[in-house]
Parts: sequence; structure tokens; C-alpha cells
Amino acid sequence: MRIEDPKIVAALPELSVELRRASSLAELTSLAIGGATDLLRIRDHESIPGLLSLLDYHGVPHRFLGGGSNLLVGDGELPWIVLQLASPDADVVLEGNFAQVDAAADLGRMVTYCAKHDLGGMEGLIGVPGTVGGALRMNAGAYGMQIGSYVREVKVYRAATRRIEILRGEQISFEYRHTSFAPDDMMLAVKLELPSKPYKEILQGIRICNEKRRSSQPLGQKSAGCIFKNPPGASAGRMIDELGLKGLSVGDARVSDRHANFFVNAGKASAKDMLALISNVRERVRSAFSVELEHEVVIWNA
Ligand SMILES: Cc1cc2nc3c(=O)[nH]c(=O)nc-3n(C[C@H](O)[C@H](O)[C@H](O)COP(=O)(O)OP(=O)(O)OC[C@H]3O[C@@H](n4cnc5c(N)ncnc54)[C@H](O)[C@@H]3O)c2cc1C
Repeated sequence: MRIEDPKIVAALPELSVELRRASSLAELTSLAIGGATDLLRIRDHESIPGLLSLLDYHGVPHRFLGGGSNLLVGDGELPWIVLQLASPDADVVLEGNFAQVDAAADLGRMVTYCAKHDLGGMEGLIGVPGTVGGALRMNAGAYGMQIGSYVREVKVYRAATRRIEILRGEQISFEYRHTSFAPDDMMLAVKLELPSKPYKEILQGIRICNEKRRSSQPLGQKSAGCIFKNPPGASAGRMIDELGLKGLSVGDARVSDRHANFFVNAGKASAKDMLALISNVRERVRSAFSVELEHEVVIWNA
């Protein structure tokens, strides 16, 4: 979608918002799939209420992009624009056991920075790509931990009130890859409380998690992590593997040979290919196990 209205375009510099025309979502997502649209990079949180009022007033639909590591985006010209936070220079500030982190901060860099200051707990998140905002939205986690356990406050733009608010951790429910934020809430920053741990010990935990990932995931290939959530008490990957579906392909979209719940773009896969593969695998799991797999990957297809 192209922002045509000159009133919007003229207002952007005052709001510290940068317009990037016809940005390719294939270049901004880890699956390397997706069409093009205008992208707005937001440098100042305080300008968000004004920006979103302006977009809503002129009827411009929008989506929030973090690091693009959990997204499957449709092909061709996209019918909405994309908003993305730009990272400030000091995106992690530590005070005692608290870390104040900007939502645009890189998740892995934040975990490493805290570790170097003897703050641990998040070792499992090493190797999860993307931003802190995306991790909050998805309640990212691995190896028995999830980011939500450490959240004490979230600074969020709430579309319902059109205001920036601070929510306390107890006001938010963090479940398995699901949070109670409204779909149009925008995470801006978070305050985490992390347990003290010597750096050497954290490093050891990080090495173990890295090793587990290296031995089980198709790292270095284009993917969005797990495509499906694990159903209660079961493993989506194991079910897909048991059906012998590793290597199943539609065009260049392929079920990874290494991890059956990772679907990779082995070349020039389109969203259409990947969606057909997802639906094919879901259907086979449904008929073999009577289980309805739920997507973990967020699909922007309309
Ligand atoms: C190789 C690989 C391994 C992975 N391993 C794991 C894993 O072990 N555990 C795990 O949980 N995930 C894993 N993932 C998935 C992904 O990395 C996480 O879900 C990550 O937290 C998504 O963050 P992101 O910034 O890339 O979000 P995006 O993909 O950009 O967005 C995901 C969703 O969050 C929303 N969002 C993003 N930023 C904001 C914001 N500031 N405000 C409001 N909404 C926002 C988007 O609108 C979208 O709905 C993996 C992915 C890959 C490619």
C-alpha cells in the first residue's frame, strides 16, 4: 500500500517518523517471503498517539513489525502499511536487578548484555531472533522458560484509549505463546526483574541452549521457528515426524529434514506455497491424530 495523502506525508517529519516507500517484507522477515508496502519507522514513542490518530482518521490500515522472525507475509502488493520502532542508542538500562529495555532492542543482544552484568534467567532465549517487543507479544520462550516470568512493567500504546500506559506485570497474562494484550496494542518498553547470577554460570547455560539448538534446528536456513504450537501434552514436531513428512515440499516451501515443526524457504518460496504446505500438514495431522494444530507463526495474508 502506498501512502498517497499529502497531509500524512507532510506530518511525518514533525512526528520523527521516517517513510520508507515500497519496503519488501521478504527482506524484513526471516522466512524471506512477502510482498511490498510503505514502512514507517518511529523514532519517538511520544509521537505514536498522534501518528495513529492521523492514520486512523485517514483510514490507513497498519500492522506492527518487530524483527520479522515469527511472520509469514502474503505475496504481492500488501493492503496495509507497516509500523516499526527504531532502536534508540541506550536500549537497555540496568538498575540493580531491574532492566529497562526498549521494545526495539534486539532480544539476543539484551540477554547477553544482562548476562555480562551478572543478571540471568533468560539463557533459553539465546538463539530466539527478533526484538524484545516481538518476544513480549509472543511470550517467547524455550527450554522451560518464558520472558513473561520476568516482566514487572510494560509501557504500551493502547489503541482502545489512544494513550501510552504503563501496565504492571500482574495486569498482563502470559501464557504459552500468547498474551492478554489487545491485537492493536503496541509494546514500547519493558521493565524486567532478573535474578543475580555470575556471568560464568549464565554463559554455561547459554552454551547448553546453543548446543541444543544447533543439534535440533535448521539454523542458517530461512524459517520462522516453529510453525505450530505444541498441543497440550504433545509435540507438533513429533506428530509431523511420525507421519514421515520431513522433506515434504510445495514449491520451495519445505518441512525441514532436521526439525519437523520448522518449515523452511529453500529458495524462492511464495506465501502461497508455504500456506499450502501448512494446510496440507495440518490436514494430515488432523486425520491421523484427530488434533487441530494451531499456528504459532503469525500469518499476515490479508
Ligand atoms: C531460527 C528461529 C528460532 C526460533 N526459536 C524460537 C523459540 O525457541 N521460542 C520462541 O518463542 N520463538 C522462537 N522463534 C520465533 C520468533 O523468533 C519469536 O516469536 C520472536 O519473539 C518474534 O519477535 P519479532 O520481533 O521477530 O516479532 P515479529 O515476527 O516481527 O512479530 C511477531 C508478532 O509480534 C507483533 N509485534 C512485534 N513487535 C511488536 C510491538 N513492539 N508491539 C506490538 N506487537 C508487536 C507483530 O505484530 C506480530 O504479531 C524462532 C524463530 C526463528 C527464525
